[in-house]
Amino acid sequence: MTTPLSFTTTQNPAPMPEADRQAAFGNLGFGTLFSDHMAVIHWTVEKGWHDATVSARKPFELDPASSVLHYAQEIFEGMKAYRGKDGTITLFRPEENARRFNESARRMAMPEIPEADFINAVEALLAADAKWVPEADGASLYLRPFMFANEAFLGVRPSKEFIFCVIASPVGPYFKGGAKPVSIWATQSFTRAAIGGTGAAKCGGNYAASLQAQAEAAQNGCDQVVFLDAKEHNWIEELGGMNVFFVFEDGSISTPPLGTILPGITRKSLIQLAKDAGITVTERPYSFETWKADAASGKLKEAFACGTAAVVAGIGQVKYEGGSFTMGDGQTGPVTTKLRETLVGIQRGSIADPHGWIRSVSV
Ligand SMILES: *Cc1c(COP(=O)(O)O)cnc(C)c1O
Repeated sequence: MTTPLSFTTTQNPAPMPEADRQAAFGNLGFGTLFSDHMAVIHWTVEKGWHDATVSARKPFELDPASSVLHYAQEIFEGMKAYRGKDGTITLFRPEENARRFNESARRMAMPEIPEADFINAVEALLAADAKWVPEADGASLYLRPFMFANEAFLGVRPSKEFIFCVIASPVGPYFKGGAKPVSIWATQSFTRAAIGGTGAAKCGGNYAASLQAQAEAAQNGCDQVVFLDAKEHNWIEELGGMNVFFVFEDGSISTPPLGTILPGITRKSLIQLAKDAGITVTERPYSFETWKADAASGKLKEAFACGTAAVVAGIGQVKYEGGSFTMGDGQTGPVTTKLRETLVGIQRGSIADPHGWIRSVSV
């Protein structure tokens, strides 16, 4: 029953003119420019997944009672396509995104999509939009697979209709400051996730709930917010959209354990790369008080955030209600830099890929 769907591709009759795209490529931000096409697959209780297409990117027509608009049955993924020096297009561990998407789907009572259909949708879109994968250093084509409930129904139960879609956006660096470390606001007012909640699911609702905390961070002059656990308000969890790591003076590194945090693919890859480099890595709870004390004593040398969008970003300063502290000299440290360069090198094909993480896409 799980024969992969085949995609019908209809070329966009009015793609962005070549000169306009080249001009836009000269000044890439994050998530503001979109490619010419989109991949769409429909799901209904009766038919399952059906009607797989790639066609001109255009608005959806939604009934105002569509359940996503009321009860937020929505999940998404974030991944990047890279252009190698030889022109080939590659993806980084796309099967991990497909697997996680289905974990999110289960948590949100949404239908799972066969991993092959998920990856084929991404690749069918890349085939139509190959010229949208930029080649500049640090640039890539950000891919956003997502799924939402579109049954027109106001009762509270899982929707009987869903749309799966992939859109693509050429991006430059996530943080405008480049390698400049980010500043972090440790919020005491808000939490991101509770045990039994949706913290491990990549769902839009988690982001909606994080925005006020992110605004608090900005009001306090910080780039990002870091959340503490909901129960004891003590343990570091993660940022709004990135996992966090700590680097100690004995050379070891640690990161908060899975559970209420989002299981990042960057996190998982960096744990592996650190182990490959002979670094001791532990996944263990780390409290905010210990973070403060270790930064003051010098036991903690570096901290960094990581995720697909920003890759690896050093954390310079941490602020909180009543104080602030700095990691090391406030600059991005050597361990952070080395891990970032290794991961980026593998993703871009300039460093060998010992774990088979890179998948070439034939377009
Ligand atoms: C997507 C995401 C991450 C990072 O995951 P990657 O797979 O590394 O991109 C971290 N935290 C949250 C809340 C996320 O949504």
